[in-house]
Amino acid sequence: MGYMDRYIKFLARYIKLDSYPVCCSTRERRMRQDLRKHNLLVYTDRLGSFSYGYDHPMRPARLRLTHERLKRYGLVDEKNLVEPGEVTEKELLWFHTEDYIEVLRKADSAILPEDAARYGLGMGDNPVFKGVFQWSLLTVGGSLIAAEFVASGKSDVVFNISGGLHHAMPSRASGFCYLNDPAIAIHYLLRKGKRVAYVDIDAHHGDGVERAFYREPRVLTISIHEDPRYLFPGTGLPQDMGEGAGRGFSVNVPVPPGTGDVLFLKVFEEVVPPFIEAFEPDILVTQLGVDTLRGDPITHLELTTYGFETMVRWFRTTGIPWVALGGGGYNVEHVANAWAIGWAVMNDMEVPQELKDEPMEKEPSRRHIEEVEKTVRFLKENALPLVKKKEW
Ligand SMILES: [Zn+2]
Repeated sequence: MGYMDRYIKFLARYIKLDSYPVCCSTRERRMRQDLRKHNLLVYTDRLGSFSYGYDHPMRPARLRLTHERLKRYGLVDEKNLVEPGEVTEKELLWFHTEDYIEVLRKADSAILPEDAARYGLGMGDNPVFKGVFQWSLLTVGGSLIAAEFVASGKSDVVFNISGGLHHAMPSRASGFCYLNDPAIAIHYLLRKGKRVAYVDIDAHHGDGVERAFYREPRVLTISIHEDPRYLFPGTGLPQDMGEGAGRGFSVNVPVPPGTGDVLFLKVFEEVVPPFIEAFEPDILVTQLGVDTLRGDPITHLELTTYGFETMVRWFRTTGIPWVALGGGGYNVEHVANAWAIGWAVMNDMEVPQELKDEPMEKEPSRRHIEEVEKTVRFLKENALPLVKKKEW
């Protein structure tokens, strides 16, 4: 028995994701989509030319590396690529404030605006670098064009690897994010009359996106992330379930530092499928941050590419039209491998063995299993019934 088979057997003691029944409506949808539509990767070489600074963990060059890797393994060619679209001020205003946009525009020349600190700019996390506004516009334009292709039915899946900058706030840069491309893309989808499920598997809580739709029952946000007591941004507790009409539609599952494939996948399979099935979204938007992988320099989770691939595979099996976004990931080699795997899965292509991590049989402690089981129970008792009511 190869090590991979052994690993799958090991995981099967804890999780059953592969056999999780997908509800009939989504299965039918999947069958209708068997004729694969033109799936796209949003990419331009311009993305890799920006720099947050030589010692900053966020490295736009990882996007170029991902594209190179995809080419090297023959997973992508020119006809799969689409460039980010233009972004209008009106679209930015769906989430951001006018004065913040103006300050960010001024910061594009790399000169620190006078009131920068008020807007979260110029400090360690969110430096004002040359082209900071252009870079941010490209990430938003990428997610908007992805949303456009998916909403119109031209593509089943569009993957914007530069997107997923989920921390940006209406009038403040935060956590390496200046403009919140997921929130803006979801606003676009709402305007097209779509109901959207946003699933965020980045190591950090998807706070900016959650905030954008905290009172909005047409958007279900689910974020699985490292316990906020140990990691930025320090939010995302299970009790934070949304407000008003949106109560129940914000779902948060913290996991302890050191979480590996078993515990993360256990949470995923217990939470994501039942909520998605209850909500029945028209469009799936996923934030596929890979700072969850073992060896990431700024988080404390220990997933392998196997765990990541399993979740991407589940998204693919739902057959729900899908806007896939990038996100965190600060070990650039891991990022390139994982997103290349993600793209292969989105296109039902075989994943090259060389891209995969060595599996790691990491047993979660009984205490950690009990903790996440408690959280899952809480969400199923308190949030899931509100989503099931379907009073949108
Ligand atoms: Zn992150």
